[in-house]
Amino acid sequence: MKILIAEDNKISRKMLEKVFEGHEYEVFSACDGDEAWKILGEPEHPRLLILDWMMPGITGVEIVQRLRERPDGHTYYIMILTSLDTPADISFALDGGADEFVSKPYHADALRARANVGRRIVNLHTTLSEKMRMLEEAHAIISHQAATDELTGLYNRRFFNENLCKHLGAAIRHSFHISVIMIDIDKFKSINDTYGHSAGDRILKICADTMRSQARTEDIVARWGGEEFIILLPYTNLEGAAVVAERIRIALASDCLVGSSIPVTASFGLAELKEGEDTEALLRRADRALYRAKDEGRNRVIPG
Ligand SMILES: [Mg+2]
Repeated sequence: MKILIAEDNKISRKMLEKVFEGHEYEVFSACDGDEAWKILGEPEHPRLLILDWMMPGITGVEIVQRLRERPDGHTYYIMILTSLDTPADISFALDGGADEFVSKPYHADALRARANVGRRIVNLHTTLSEKMRMLEEAHAIISHQAATDELTGLYNRRFFNENLCKHLGAAIRHSFHISVIMIDIDKFKSINDTYGHSAGDRILKICADTMRSQARTEDIVARWGGEEFIILLPYTNLEGAAVVAERIRIALASDCLVGSSIPVTASFGLAELKEGEDTEALLRRADRALYRAKDEGRNRVIPG
């Protein structure tokens, strides 16, 4: 392990270096506080430090205070080595953030044994923070997967429902408009039957990408299941939802043709939240409008 020794007295510094050299330590030496602080500013600097208290420039205790205030995320084990040894001195150094206080003169083996304790603690913290980082990464991946439809990369039905409840609650409380668009790819079964399921999957993905790019940033675009999609439009009335739906309808009818060489259209059912309605009633109206769009010849937007 890397260890920083900061001591302004040359002979004392050489003696300290000897205590650690050849004992699984890589020694970094500083002849005063300023040099020590410079070393601590380099990447991959030592985390285990032995600092003389009294040094020209920055003192050992000042380095401790600065390091403790520095938000670099590293764990340090800091030993203050000094000829000061009153209880007030010890309290001052330890309360200031030092981990260990060693009075001069010291015994070489005892000093190294104390440093070994510091090494264990630094290693333990490093391992723990690495594990913590991996856990956080895993958690981010799991959260993303839990909210995402694997095929299309859109939000999934569960995420949509959770957010529908939240947004509906807020819309009712603050009297905001809120609308949903239900979308069904027209004659998807025949696409699957004619071109195969992998072509069908590709179509779903292209449609999903088109919906996401044509929707607005604040809209929540989700795969409802199979070839059905749903979009939540916060702060949007029926007319506003119709504009978004029409834009997607036109883009789907042209984009999918380009992206897949298979002609694709979709039908759209819209609903804006009415007073006294819950999520189920809202979705039911959008669904009914979607069925009407199908009945009336598909590839159209029908407000519920
Ligand atoms: Mg000194």
